[in-house]
Amino acid sequence: MPDFAKLIVVALLIYLWESSLWLPRRAVILRRRWFKKSWKVIRPGNLLATPRLGLVFLRPFLPDIGIAPCQSPPLLVDEHGQFLSQNTDETCSAVEVRDWADLHESANSISVCGEKIRISSPRALDRLRQGKMLGESVSTAVLAQWNQALSPTRAKREWQRWRLCFEPLVLMVGLLTIGIFVALPAAYLLLDQFALIGLAAYIWLLMWMIAARLWWISSRVYPKLKSEIRTDAWLCLVVPFHAMRAIEMTAVHAMASTHPAALILSSGDTENRWLAEFSRKLLFPHLQDQSDALRCAALRPLMDRALSQFGKSCADYDIPPTNENDPEANAYCPRCHSLYLLKAATCSDCGGLALRPFNFTPAT
Ligand SMILES: [Zn+2]
Repeated sequence: MPDFAKLIVVALLIYLWESSLWLPRRAVILRRRWFKKSWKVIRPGNLLATPRLGLVFLRPFLPDIGIAPCQSPPLLVDEHGQFLSQNTDETCSAVEVRDWADLHESANSISVCGEKIRISSPRALDRLRQGKMLGESVSTAVLAQWNQALSPTRAKREWQRWRLCFEPLVLMVGLLTIGIFVALPAAYLLLDQFALIGLAAYIWLLMWMIAARLWWISSRVYPKLKSEIRTDAWLCLVVPFHAMRAIEMTAVHAMASTHPAALILSSGDTENRWLAEFSRKLLFPHLQDQSDALRCAALRPLMDRALSQFGKSCADYDIPPTNENDPEANAYCPRCHSLYLLKAATCSDCGGLALRPFNFTPAT
């Protein structure tokens, strides 16, 4: 293979590495559909995962400005003061939290009674830190954090703030990508070395402009994330592929304290499939998982409150699935919407939940 081709292959490999995000597996990545107000949901780790982190690939060659890596707060508390800590997926485990001494923050994680929970950004713990400083109890701060994370009004504000900061970068990132992958190889093959030096200087100027914008954002927009965003800014000065992904790297911080349901609701996408499934699972806890019953009881009133702004509640998502692909099926599981023949009485995936016939009418 000629040296030039090897160089291109190495450049592409570094670019692909920079075009991926490692996020906590319980995170939910939303991607805005082109020219629509609806969202597509991506779960980290579909391709590659460790026990705590999952890989998400970004759209290649174009700035992925519609991506929103969201997650739920790491702790939940019910009305009786029972704490639940998040596992790697959507499930929870009951934990005994007496006071702030049971919580320890470290880089990209929080330890709850010795059990580590990954977070995508220190911003995910802002409300807990604030509560501790104000002298609130852990349960008050955790509840306030959930109300904040599930607020569609706040989610809309967070999304708009991030878009306003980063939209000016789309053109610079686009020009940088064309410069590296189109103009630079073309200049190397067709033009003289002076043109090549001029082009390299232009590319470096673009990298400087991207880094300067990040620096400005770190002090004016997200001052609590100064060190994280400034590290990215320094990297943008030396690694062009990092500068090409500056927008997506910062999205991880911008949306870290927003629950995906709040962001979906903030754009009016109330018929979103993920949102419907999430709400339905709060109505029907897994029958053999005691902590799921506690989680649903604690979370359902919070979710109902978020939905009430749109004239809805979790119960509105308790509707039968369509059986047009399987007309033989005459029963369904109200929790996971699997289709069955009535001969089966319960859904094994949901811990033995009773099935419903399609002509079921809920008691009023
Ligand atoms: Zn089921």
